[in-house]
Amino acid sequence: MAYAPQERIGADVSRAWIVGSQPPASGIASSLDAAPLAVIVDLVRTGRADTRPRLGSITGLSRKVVTQRVDQACGSGLLRDAGLAPSEGGRQARLLEFNADAGRVFGVLIEASEITVGIADLRGHLLATAHEDWTVDSGPEATMERVKVHLDVLAAREGVERPWGIGVGVPGPVDYSSSRLVSPPIMPGWDGFSARSWLREHYDAPIWVDNDVNVMAIGEWSFGTGSRSDDMLFIKAGTGVGSAIISRGRLLRGQRGAAGDIGHMHVTEDPLATCRCGQTGCLEAVASGWSLLMEATRRADASAMLSAAMTDRGRITLGDIGRAAHEGDPLSLEMLLTRAQVLGEVAASLVNFVNPGQLVIGGGVLRAGTDPLDRIRDVVLHRSTRLASEGLTVRAASLDQMEGVIGAALLAAENLLAPPALALWVEDATPLGHASALQRHATAFV
Ligand SMILES: [Zn+2]
Repeated sequence: MAYAPQERIGADVSRAWIVGSQPPASGIASSLDAAPLAVIVDLVRTGRADTRPRLGSITGLSRKVVTQRVDQACGSGLLRDAGLAPSEGGRQARLLEFNADAGRVFGVLIEASEITVGIADLRGHLLATAHEDWTVDSGPEATMERVKVHLDVLAAREGVERPWGIGVGVPGPVDYSSSRLVSPPIMPGWDGFSARSWLREHYDAPIWVDNDVNVMAIGEWSFGTGSRSDDMLFIKAGTGVGSAIISRGRLLRGQRGAAGDIGHMHVTEDPLATCRCGQTGCLEAVASGWSLLMEATRRADASAMLSAAMTDRGRITLGDIGRAAHEGDPLSLEMLLTRAQVLGEVAASLVNFVNPGQLVIGGGVLRAGTDPLDRIRDVVLHRSTRLASEGLTVRAASLDQMEGVIGAALLAAENLLAPPALALWVEDATPLGHASALQRHATAFV
């Protein structure tokens, strides 16, 4: 894989944010009464215990019970032996590890102009991916059919008969509890559509659907490079613009899932700044990839490279503008930097508001070289308060545009493996057959 996952010891503990449950550390004693097996698997999976004696000392369970439960978890394939622990003078303990290969999850990222799907292990490491340029304007049925075709091809290639769970990111506002899109401004025909219901007709697996920027933030926060910080602001500047906030290791969704949806924030009084949503003055009207394409098409005559693209294919793509800017085309550079300026100003306000340790910029605008990112960074550092900008890292997303599909896979894996969900199926060694209960259970936390 092109990305290098970082092992974040202990990070999984706080990933309980995905289902919104409390971190399990404080609840071990009470959980033990109900599901000692789930607690033991979870302690090993989250890196808090890797030997039987350590499990015993954390849980207070007797050696006999720990041994029985570990044997059960190893027998079911959820835990496995990892050799001998370093000697501490006495008899060496056997190391235990979580078996991320016990099952497979699917990750799906649907964006305005592309689809990416992947199959991942239970830690969110991608094993196979597929990508297609595709416009969501084609409508939900046609889009989901394409998603299914790609998933089925990958599953056949990887020998995956049934996924344990599916995570999906979509480019519009999602009511997280019902998985339905709610008035997506740029997705004709998708209002009220449930990708979960559609997929459940075809896969007997629990399915979690979230906004695309939220899953990108989950992927980047879990595996991205850079300083470790539990407070991250992710801004996507692609065809559309959106943001996601991770605060103290938890993704902020807000009451219904709309938190971070900044694309149609009012940022200018310019009456000519018309937006796809029908309003004027939105952030997307002046800073999105969509607005960039509109302007580039209108002004193509002023640029030799853009007018060449127009002549060749009858249209200009974000890739054309990126390449032109890269090669010094003044118009392309000007249009990109104008957008970077606006994004930087909005980002500075958000930085003041949520005080992240990292500001990560993702999406297609960054495929145009480093100039836009440098401009965003300059504006953010100049415009945010001293306390908020002290120690702030501003960087590009680091997973080769795969952060969204990785995050979607993690959304599924973490919803399956968070202790309250794990307790539902761990005795059976597989969540297959528990899709409805898992679905109900996970949404009950929102
Ligand atoms: Zn708008």
